Amino acid sequence: MIDTSTIRIEKTSQSRINELDEDNIPFGKLYSDHMFIADYIDGEWQDLRIVPYQNMSVSPAMTTLHYAITIFEGLKAYKNAAGEVVSFRPEANASRLNVSAERMCIPQVPESLFMDGLTELLKLDSAWVPSKPGTALYVRPFVFGTDEYIGVRPSNNYRFMIITCPVGSYYTKPVRVKIETKFSRAFEGGTGYAKAGGNYAASLYPARLAQQQGFDQLIWTDGKSHEFIEESGTMNVMFMIDGVLRTAPTSGTILKGITRDSVLTIARDWGMQVEEAPVKVSEVVAAAKEGRLQEAFGVGTAATIAPIATIGFEDELFDLPAADDSFFSKKVLKELDAIRTGEVEDQRGWVYKI
Ligand SMILES: *Cc1c(COP(=O)(O)O)cnc(C)c1O
Repeated sequence: MIDTSTIRIEKTSQSRINELDEDNIPFGKLYSDHMFIADYIDGEWQDLRIVPYQNMSVSPAMTTLHYAITIFEGLKAYKNAAGEVVSFRPEANASRLNVSAERMCIPQVPESLFMDGLTELLKLDSAWVPSKPGTALYVRPFVFGTDEYIGVRPSNNYRFMIITCPVGSYYTKPVRVKIETKFSRAFEGGTGYAKAGGNYAASLYPARLAQQQGFDQLIWTDGKSHEFIEESGTMNVMFMIDGVLRTAPTSGTILKGITRDSVLTIARDWGMQVEEAPVKVSEVVAAAKEGRLQEAFGVGTAATIAPIATIGFEDELFDLPAADDSFFSKKVLKELDAIRTGEVEDQRGWVYKI
């Protein structure tokens, strides 16, 4: 049993909060004053602590540097209309971290350890939670093996950490995406459903090729036939075709997005037709050609909703209508924002007050 009431706190003597300019937040460069750490040693999580954000030294033989024994989560903290710090469905991140952990032979992180670490850290660094519309404090919990061991085997020791960084709006412009039909992100029996470091390393090269062709992001297709849409790099994808909201089911090859679940839940509550079933690339392409593809957008914590402006497939480009306030993607984004800020009642218990 871990006693999470014993988090040791060492406060920084030199806050960097004056470096935070809410109107101009550099993405992923400025980290808040503190970080949470817990170490897994001798089969137990121990030495829970919050310390000033700083570099750490590791062994050159640390297993994770060689074999990517590492998993992560991503969530956000916001200021609600009353100025309180809230987070969105953090328990879902805690439980997904453990789904990823199992696949990577990483020990489970008890939900209380995750939630208490998160809560104490956000309390201490609450001044780092920006309040301008579109801004948030991005929270990155992660776990990695710390053994000094060059052989391939699960690590015996691990570190769980939480770091945070303020962020502005992620994608301001609608994105251009390419449907990828050569490279694969995931395949049956693989690790696609885990938020595991190696998945992202493997996606960099195909993503770079797409960027060289003028795209912002990829839409991955299934690793076997490349006939079915899977998801984007760090977002699930949804299509509105003939008035039906379509998205791929979360099989073993797709990351089970919390934003995805929230959007589908709201759509169903609004009485919309929702189909969680394999989406054929050919169907999307045909719908785009015939003007029946009304909307396409990515859903994920980083951007919340990222409207897609252009889809590239083989040698063709399909432009989508620009999203206006009548679009589902706009309405659902507004609803999610209103739930977080407290303007709309949180009927589903999604908002967690720090
Ligand atoms: C994190 C992630 C998502 C989105 O998940 P959220 O819980 O909505 O942030 C989707 N796909 C991939 C591959 C991801 O890594």
